[in-house]
Amino acid sequence: MEVYVPEPISKLIEGFMRLPGIGPKTAQRLAFFVLKMEEEDVLDLAKALVRAKRDLRFCAVCNNISDREVCSICSDKHRDRSTICVVQDPRDVMAMERTREYNGLYHVLHGAISPMEGIGPDELKIPELLKRLEDETVQELILATNPNIEGEATAMYLAKLVKPFGLRVTRIAHGLPVGGDLEYADEVTLTKALEGRREL
Ligand SMILES: [Zn+2]
Repeated sequence: MEVYVPEPISKLIEGFMRLPGIGPKTAQRLAFFVLKMEEEDVLDLAKALVRAKRDLRFCAVCNNISDREVCSICSDKHRDRSTICVVQDPRDVMAMERTREYNGLYHVLHGAISPMEGIGPDELKIPELLKRLEDETVQELILATNPNIEGEATAMYLAKLVKPFGLRVTRIAHGLPVGGDLEYADEVTLTKALEGRREL
């Protein structure tokens, strides 16, 4: 027996199912929830989706997501410009910011070196990082790539690559779950990892 579902709702369910971690049941629940929402709230949500896609870009300096040419962190005069924390993903910047312990700048690589997936250094924002290091205000580079094989390989590669700049190069401490992602670490663990960083 064919179950009749009006097209607008089946389209909505299909849309939700394209999102990560959402199976058919959850998609259905979300779609029916939307039906019960106030029209104004639905419009706000729709606008937020479109704006996030249309107005966000990557910061011209650090490659973090931003709604302007240079992001709010890079343009903040109160941030310590002598330290750059290198992360894999914009979500890692959010995780680090949640700790409220770090006041330096960031550089987002947009991935990690992974021969298995065919991602080499050229696919990452590494040339952009080297360009930033030419500025002599930078004195420390904190390598905060994920504590897994790809993240470690990337940190080792970068440590070697930036040697000629004569900077202090540190790696965030373990204590972070090995094999895990930085973005899922809680604030306390991440703060401890930052404090316990060691020289490379
Ligand atoms: Zn930026």
